[in-house]
Amino acid sequence: MRDKTKTLWTGFRLRCPNCTSGRIFSGLRMNKMCQNCGVYFERPAEGDFLVTIVMVYATTAVLIAGLVFLINMYLPHVSVAAQMIFCLVFGLALSLASHRHWKGFSIALIHLTFGLQCPDNS
Ligand SMILES: [Zn+2]
Repeated sequence: MRDKTKTLWTGFRLRCPNCTSGRIFSGLRMNKMCQNCGVYFERPAEGDFLVTIVMVYATTAVLIAGLVFLINMYLPHVSVAAQMIFCLVFGLALSLASHRHWKGFSIALIHLTFGLQCPDNS
């Protein structure tokens, strides 16, 4: 039996939480199902969108708060306007960069919570 943390990490690495070798995304586009084992990735109305958005927001907010703290600690002469612009750009870049990974994490979480869904037992 696989460890649940390892399953979540596998999803975060954009791999299938079931077989660990299929890819969740092809470029920027999410695959509907695993090309290796056939498990569905798209499962409407089960909350993976909400989990993804909350995780992206939470990690970005925590990292922005840490960044503001570090800027004020080591660069106190930087104006508030410059800090806001820098944090806005950093936050947008971080959100875009981490969105696919948190989507994979939420897919793995849904697989752990509701079980696997394959074409033959759906
Ligand atoms: Zn798979």
